[in-house]
Amino acid sequence: MALESKISAYTQDYQQWVCTACGYNMIGEMPEVCPFCRARDDKFVSWEEAEQTYRVTPHQVNDCVTQLISVPRLGLEHAAYRIETNDGAVWIDCPSAFNRDLEPVEAIYFTHKDFMGASNQYRELWDALVYLHVNDAEHPLAEQFTVDKKIYGDFTEHGIEAFYIGGHTPGLHYLHLWQGLVYL
Ligand SMILES: [Zn+2]
Repeated sequence: MALESKISAYTQDYQQWVCTACGYNMIGEMPEVCPFCRARDDKFVSWEEAEQTYRVTPHQVNDCVTQLISVPRLGLEHAAYRIETNDGAVWIDCPSAFNRDLEPVEAIYFTHKDFMGASNQYRELWDALVYLHVNDAEHPLAEQFTVDKKIYGDFTEHGIEAFYIGGHTPGLHYLHLWQGLVYL
């Protein structure tokens, strides 16, 4: 499907809400409270309003890595990174705001389930593959989000080594190592 027609699918009857207290994205009917932080619905904005209000802004970390931060800050603003690997560009975690004009990536690797961001929208826009640990994918906070690759343990893809640390750190399940730097 062409990019334009994919985007237009979001302009008609498509509902998604973003909690401005934490950044969690709620797909479908608006709930009364945020499933993640329990903020009331007066803290919610539609995904379209979020796209207009928040700019996902790259900050250069090194030649191949940028950190993606919303301006203004959106919720808890968990760090997401873009890495230009030899096998294509990927994200580690995902911004909460959907900005359709960002540079595409091939894959989105999640460190944990709590900040799925607008990954469902980026996935659809770019045909990006979403990776999440199998236990997290079944968690209520993540179950509305499509996961293409449910991962089990350590893995290496796009030259990124991912180490499963779920047994040690509640809420954080992966460390991603690329060119000697750790992303979490
Ligand atoms: Zn929230």
